[in-house]
Amino acid sequence: MSNSWETIIGLEVHAQLSTESKIFCSCSTRFGDEPNANTCPVCLGLPGALPVLNWRAVELGARAALALGLRINHQSIFARKNYFYPDLPKGYQISQYDRPFSADGTLEIMTAERDEAGHAHEWKPMTVRITRLHLEEDAGKNVHEGLPDVDRYSYIDLNRAGVPLAEIVTEPDFRSSWEAYDYVNHVRRALQSVGASDADMEKGNLRCEANVSVRRKGETAFGTKVELKNLNSVRFMQKAVEFEVERHIKTLESGGRLTQETRLWDDRLSETRVMRSKEEAHDYRYFPEPDLPPLVVTDEFIATIGSSLPELPGPRAKRFGESYGLSFSDASQLTSDRSLADYYEQAVEASGGNARGAANWIRSELLRELEHAGLTADKSPVPADELGALVRLIDEDKISGKQGKDVLVEMFATGKSAGAIVEERGLVQVSDTGEIDRVIDEVIAANPNQLEHYRAGKETLFGFFVGQIMKASKGKANPKIVNERLKEKLK
Ligand SMILES: [Zn+2]
Repeated sequence: MSNSWETIIGLEVHAQLSTESKIFCSCSTRFGDEPNANTCPVCLGLPGALPVLNWRAVELGARAALALGLRINHQSIFARKNYFYPDLPKGYQISQYDRPFSADGTLEIMTAERDEAGHAHEWKPMTVRITRLHLEEDAGKNVHEGLPDVDRYSYIDLNRAGVPLAEIVTEPDFRSSWEAYDYVNHVRRALQSVGASDADMEKGNLRCEANVSVRRKGETAFGTKVELKNLNSVRFMQKAVEFEVERHIKTLESGGRLTQETRLWDDRLSETRVMRSKEEAHDYRYFPEPDLPPLVVTDEFIATIGSSLPELPGPRAKRFGESYGLSFSDASQLTSDRSLADYYEQAVEASGGNARGAANWIRSELLRELEHAGLTADKSPVPADELGALVRLIDEDKISGKQGKDVLVEMFATGKSAGAIVEERGLVQVSDTGEIDRVIDEVIAANPNQLEHYRAGKETLFGFFVGQIMKASKGKANPKIVNERLKEKLK
């Protein structure tokens, strides 16, 4: 692939706001209910029914906007976006158009290119400009599978019609599929951490679309763009963008022409296909929604929301890197979930300040146990203070790291403290040099042949002696001291 090309990507993310009821009526937003159970004259679009704005959606929209660095407008206008589709009973969607809820965001994210195996190299900061975040209602859903006579009928479930969404649109700032990938993950974590959205792509409460084009490096005009839809996971989005970039470059280099169109990602075939061309594009004939007054928010409202936000995952990962000396990937893993980040900070404190030790134990041992049990950090049977206490026992050479692993597994299974298990099992590590010397002498005396070979230059036998000593001490001897003393004695 020629690298004289530049990729241009802009993203649209639709996030479902975590309200209990819909944005313009009191129907439930619960996922998985009987089809059409949660509907009323408003969300069915019956004549004469009037929408009433759910203020909780505004609060959550504001949390989302501030978490992504946007400015909230004091006044925004709801508008009708007109189009006909079976899952849209009103014939229009209530959205926002020229006066959106919030605009002009700048968001700092971390991004890295990946190698063939998907490993990230060299994380670096990137600033993304977010054009706007506006509030709107979702449409219903056409169902074409799993019901009788689907070859003859289409089914419509309107439970989702009227569910509140925040649509988040960026400037065309991304230059690679991985930048787009890292942005969507950042947005997901930020929305989750402020409680604005569950942002779960599997449940469809976070969806994204990508606008992709390429141009020769140095050119300023944009190339023909393609809109990608049906991207059901962040990984699918990344793969679809990558596929499109290659298709564009191949087409242009062989003298072909591109058409502006909307394409869908087919993960089974690992390719995109045309959904509709520009000629079929909608003219939405937006106009202000006559049934809703302008949405007005005060400075006090914005300030109250702002002061109630927790520390966001991005800045928190940065702080973990600076004050705990963690690598970016370790820090972002530990801040990916708020309860895990809180757990980590408490464990560091309880360990007496061993930030790296606590990070290693959580990342390698605790997370494995949690994952196995299907638990999050706040439900861990091993409290953060106890994990810290375990790290401390190892730091103080009371037990070895190897013993520590067994102790953690037992703590997890029984809920007992590290101290209690160490005592019960008689695990205390022997660091008394006199006692260790005695065991070393015995082992050396019992293996005269090995000693002779070692002194003759076969240094690999050192490991043999360590093994014998650890065995003779039933694993209790402090390996660090064993190594030091043994070197001394074998001279
Ligand atoms: Zn309703």
